[in-house]
Amino acid sequence: MAKKSKALLEAEARVAELTALLSDATAPESDEPLRKVHGTKSAGITLGEATAKRQPSKPTHEEFALAHKGGPAKSMCAADECRETTVGKSKYCKPHRSESRARFKAMLKAKAEAKEEQHKRFGELVTYARQQATTAASGPVVAGYVRFAPGNTSFVYWARENLNGVQKSEGGGIVLPLKASDPSIRAFAQAMAKGLSIAEPRVTVLFATG
Ligand SMILES: [Zn+2]
Repeated sequence: MAKKSKALLEAEARVAELTALLSDATAPESDEPLRKVHGTKSAGITLGEATAKRQPSKPTHEEFALAHKGGPAKSMCAADECRETTVGKSKYCKPHRSESRARFKAMLKAKAEAKEEQHKRFGELVTYARQQATTAASGPVVAGYVRFAPGNTSFVYWARENLNGVQKSEGGGIVLPLKASDPSIRAFAQAMAKGLSIAEPRVTVLFATG
């Protein structure tokens, strides 16, 4: 076997030195590798304290880039303690991307269920308020309205789709014109206000009659 040239031997030594430095840099938190690098007789510096702020086991991005030097440009999975490279455009590695997608799906499902539940309550509240209005009916029928504001509330969005006859209110929100006795309109508005103070407290209910 041919003798290695001096330049090759020097290059190999440099590679070995760099490899040692890199493994020290990415090794779990410990004083040992640092003592090796700096010599056992440090000048009164407590290395444990100086390095305590570093993440204990995850390499820095510089260390990670160094470890993947020469390979395709990659970055490190964003999951805690994970050192795998990212996949596609994700900030995660493949298994953590799957986990993240599953979490996102579950979150969407929970949101959709909560919305459905809220809409059911709005429907039940209107039914209850109409019953109260019927019970309270007394005297002549007048024209009045009940106003719900502000417009950017779940109830108002729901009412625009689900309550017949609602109109946009000039002062924001919606108005529901009603033809009923004065006590009926009052009872309806009061029942709605009471229910919404629990279902969606941001909604203000006002009413006016004949
Ligand atoms: Zn990962």
